[in-house]
Amino acid sequence: MNPKKREQIFSYWKAANPEPKTELEYNSPFELLISVLLSAQATDVSVNAATKGLYAEADTPAKMLALGEAKVRHHIRTIGLFNTKAKNVIKTCQILQDEHNGIVPDTREALEALPGVGRKTANVVLNTAFRQIAMAVDTHIFRVSNRTGIAPGKDVIEVEKKLLKFVPHDYLLDAHHWLILHGRYVCVARNPKCAECGIVDLCEFKQKTNRKTGVRAKPGVKAKKAPSKKRVANGKQTVRKKTTRTKLKTKAKKKTVK
Ligand code: SF4
Repeated sequence: MNPKKREQIFSYWKAANPEPKTELEYNSPFELLISVLLSAQATDVSVNAATKGLYAEADTPAKMLALGEAKVRHHIRTIGLFNTKAKNVIKTCQILQDEHNGIVPDTREALEALPGVGRKTANVVLNTAFRQIAMAVDTHIFRVSNRTGIAPGKDVIEVEKKLLKFVPHDYLLDAHHWLILHGRYVCVARNPKCAECGIVDLCEFKQKTNRKTGVRAKPGVKAKKAPSKKRVANGKQTVRKKTTRTKLKTKAKKKTVK
């Protein structure tokens, strides 16, 4: 994809949603860190439902430690992998308390040293809580980057590096949110909603749905073109159909006569 198209895509997203936000609900870097840690293989909605009660009781590492693992587990029992996650929350809070004075660090190294915090979680916290340029590539961003051609790559690290390199500088801070929201609500995994996609004319996905015909191209097959307006206006589309049908009828008649 050429730089002009990337600029147009991000410019469109910015105009449509000037201040994109994460859908996780949080009031501090600490709450964001815990929510992202809990969100692995879980939806933001389920995390928000669980953390509402949890943060009401414990919104700092010290309070979380005082609450204890069993109560944390009880609060997050509706989220997948809650046993492991409860353990990691407590271990993370212990390190925050012992080594960072109860404050979430703002460096990748320190974040990734926390239990249950990988590169993606660290990137989300750095970008969302500390407004640093970082690209947390999840399944949605990976899919959108590859399909559209914005930053194609065979694994998340390659996509992350390409996004950091190719996304126009003015959009780098918020690119993560625009990409994730587009993947979550428009360019969904099974049936991307190309017909209602604002970047359909810029997207380079070979199997995207043709906006005019509504036909989705199959792998290796070019999408069917819609008849031109001129052709339809001149009635040629209809004439061709009639002619073919008439020919077939005439052949059938001839056979009957013989
Ligand atoms: S046109 Fe289709 S494939 Fe391309 S970004 Fe939009 S929804 Fe995704």
